[in-house]
Parts: sequence; structure tokens; C-alpha cells
Amino acid sequence: MTDDLHGAVGVLLGDDGQRYTVGRRNLVEVLRQAERPLTAAEILEAGSLPQSSAYRNLAVLESCGVVHRVAGTDELARFELAEDLTAHHHHHLICTECGLVSDFTVPDSLESDLAAVAHRVALETGFRAEHHRLDLLGRCVHCG
Ligand SMILES: [Zn+2]
Ligand SMILES: [Zn+2]
Ligand SMILES: [Zn+2]
Repeated sequence: MTDDLHGAVGVLLGDDGQRYTVGRRNLVEVLRQAERPLTAAEILEAGSLPQSSAYRNLAVLESCGVVHRVAGTDELARFELAEDLTAHHHHHLICTECGLVSDFTVPDSLESDLAAVAHRVALETGFRAEHHRLDLLGRCVHCG
């Protein structure tokens, strides 16, 4: 986690001519403290935020690259802070039963293996990967 998360967010918003208002700051703070991607409803609940402005602020944060939408298997959008803001590269576990999305990390040695996969793909296809995503789909502990 970068020490100056809010400073970095302010720069991203400023680049797009947006102000870093208290309402937006509260949204970022909720996502910083979350341990997994949250739905809009969960964000409102966790931060006791007024629904009126929160949806619009979330959309602004997303369009400025502060917040990323995480793809799941249900129709609910889930949000988390962009990885380049948190310096926390991670992957997702997505439950195909209840839709829960959780974060997980793997040791550096396994990340190196994934880099080797990307290298191999580059050799075979000419595609130069700059990032990767690895999401595992299955059943969470609650759904067995
Ligand atoms: Zn589940
Ligand atoms: Zn995540
Ligand atoms: Zn990875």
C-alpha cells in the first residue's frame, strides 16, 4: 500500500479535471480497508455513505482509473482500488454459486512461473503481455 494513496488519487482525478471531494475520499477509504472487491451496495453500507452521490462518485473514480471493476460470474459489479495505487498485485477467487469474489496472492516464485507463461505466449503468438490476470472459478468455502 502506498503511503500517500490519497495524494496519488488526487493526482489522477486532477488529470481529468475532477476534484477530490470528501465523498470521493470516503469511497476510496472504504475500498482501502476492504479485503475483497465490494459491490456498490456493500461500499455504501461499509462507509455509511449517501446513495445519491456515491454512485456518481464511484463512476467518476472508475473513469479516472482510481477504481477498477472486477468481473465476476453474477450481474453485480464489484469494485476495488487499481493495483498501481495499492502496489498489491493479486488474483481473484470467484465463486460460481454465490458470486463472492475474494483476493489472493501467490509467492513470487509462482508469479515468476506466470511470467514464464507470458514469455512463452510471446514467442508463440508475438503478443507482448504487460500485465496478467489470473482468476480461479469454482466454489467458495461456504458453498462447498
Ligand atoms: Zn460461494
Ligand atoms: Zn482484488
Ligand atoms: Zn499474478
